[in-house]
Amino acid sequence: HHYSQRVFSLYHKINHDTSLDDVFHQFGEVCNQLFKFDAFTVSIKMPSDKRPIVYYSMGENSESWQGLNFDLQQTIHGYSIFQEDKLITKNWQHDFSEYSRFGRDDQKDMEYLSVLSVPIVLHQHGIGSVVLEKKTNVGYTAIDLQLLEMFGETIGSILTWIYQYKSTHNEASFDFLTGLLNRKAFLDRFIQEIQRAVRFQQNLVLLVLDLDKFKNINDTFGHLYGDYMLQTVSKLIQKSVRDIDVVGRYGGEEFIVILVNTSKSLAEQVGKRIVHSISTYEFEEHGVKSGITISGGMAQFPGDSEEKRALVKLADEALYDAKSQGGNRVILHGN
Ligand code: GH3
Ligand code: MG
Ligand code: MG
Repeated sequence: HHYSQRVFSLYHKINHDTSLDDVFHQFGEVCNQLFKFDAFTVSIKMPSDKRPIVYYSMGENSESWQGLNFDLQQTIHGYSIFQEDKLITKNWQHDFSEYSRFGRDDQKDMEYLSVLSVPIVLHQHGIGSVVLEKKTNVGYTAIDLQLLEMFGETIGSILTWIYQYKSTHNEASFDFLTGLLNRKAFLDRFIQEIQRAVRFQQNLVLLVLDLDKFKNINDTFGHLYGDYMLQTVSKLIQKSVRDIDVVGRYGGEEFIVILVNTSKSLAEQVGKRIVHSISTYEFEEHGVKSGITISGGMAQFPGDSEEKRALVKLADEALYDAKSQGGNRVILHGN
């Protein structure tokens, strides 16, 4: 009864800018009252993602795997996503000896034994898992399983709801030409990533990018060729960053990236990698060859500013400096 009341009140709170973090956090609280666990973990793999990501976690040391993207196959946390089925065991290391928790490379986290896991289903596809783990081999009961399955279904339908709510009440999240997040969706993600950075005391770096003298390309080769270049540049940028980083199309020939949980010096390497990969790429469509360069500016949260808009402004100023030094480079605010 208590459970259904809490869930019902959750539905009430959902609107177009409800973040998944909020939803999972509140689920975590409800779960905490209903189950015994040492770790509670929600992972999501949207169809466009290659790997699942730990979206929410609770329990001792859980921050060490929060945000992790991990192997889908042969992992305890990938099981319910991959198999779209439940998993219940008192000792996974015995019952699933070929498996690891998150991937072949992780330390085995030997202290966890009992596992109860159910899939999160969105539009008939397993897109996530809810996993409870205990350090003892006391295991979970059939009642626990029933309850958690209900849980997984509820999360699935709440996700469906959020998804539909967003697509009817907002413009679509993705840019039509490049498939990157559009400006609005990017800024929503930016807010969430800053909240996450605060919660886990991490740094993030905002990188704004602008193609150099792109107008010349359109003037010389036509608008369609320009479009081809924008699409190709988008792919090159995505290839240069990690799966967990967030890439958006900010405007016509402007791109914007959140490099999550990263230092200035690592961000600078990524920026240089992007600049290099674009300047050395040999563009060719319908036999027409060309090249282009890009410039970038970066600012770090919270080092340079704790305020979202100020960060964009500082990164923009660094971009302007990069342009005035001839382009084809990336500059860090304050350098
Ligand atoms: P700078 O080096 O100072 O950045 O010069 P620029 O020419 O890149 O910058 P400017 O802002 O003068 O021109 C941007 C151009 O981008 C103008 C516009 O026609 C082109 N553009 C914007 N969106 C699109 C698009 O979707 N497709 C194509 N093909 N071109 C676009
Ligand atoms: Mg521009
Ligand atoms: Mg430009």
